[in-house]
Amino acid sequence: MNKFASGFMTICFAVAAVISSSALAQQRPASAGPVDPALMEDLIAANRILAAQGVVDAMGHVSVRHNRDPNRYLLSLARAPELVTEADIMEYDLDSVPVRDPGRRQYSERYIHGEIYKLRPDVIAVVHAHTPSVVPFTVSSVPLRAIAHSGGFLAEGLPNFEIREAGGMTDMLVSNASFGRALAEKLGDKSAILMRGHGFAAVGKSLPFVVGRSIYIGVAAKLQTEAIALGGTVTYLDPEEGRKIEARRDYIRPWELWKRQAMGK
Ligand SMILES: [Zn+2]
Repeated sequence: MNKFASGFMTICFAVAAVISSSALAQQRPASAGPVDPALMEDLIAANRILAAQGVVDAMGHVSVRHNRDPNRYLLSLARAPELVTEADIMEYDLDSVPVRDPGRRQYSERYIHGEIYKLRPDVIAVVHAHTPSVVPFTVSSVPLRAIAHSGGFLAEGLPNFEIREAGGMTDMLVSNASFGRALAEKLGDKSAILMRGHGFAAVGKSLPFVVGRSIYIGVAAKLQTEAIALGGTVTYLDPEEGRKIEARRDYIRPWELWKRQAMGK
């Protein structure tokens, strides 16, 4: 190759590199900007509370919509919730593409969050967990139902996501947008959805709501199992009772306690 050809090739490679790096920059979604410190504190607390209350172990995650842009959400990188700190929180668009640091380890099931936020404008926070007391109800013909006041949001029953309908034989993980979309569609307007052989996803209008629901799904599963084990007839909450309970529901008092217990302050 003569000197002219070699120089020409170098220029071509340089131009191609600039084009491809600018194309990558264009694909990366823009950040919504700084997160409200109070929201960040609650997101860290939510991670710790879910671990402290036994809703999640090393797996499971919680997200919240960005306070500046409903088309962005905040979720930790792939880390056990009990260990999550502010430095771990990543910002995603609703396609679950991070606005920066795409090389960091990410939860493979983050699509649960992004696809629910797309279909449910009323949802501000999402939890996904594998709580052991709940899993039997995802595979049994006995539906999870509410027997106590704390489970009012379950009184109408929960849908159960069958990933075989969305993807045939899989590794059971909601690890792409297509599975996430199918789960969000099955969730409909409900407060939570069971996931067959896996766990559940819960939604709420705030972090205290979604954390509270996630805790009380596990409580409801334990209570129902114990009531059935007694051997008599079980009286469940009527859906109308559930609606009346939920119309007055807030999690202000337990949130204060859970946060203090989990954050040590
Ligand atoms: Zn999972």
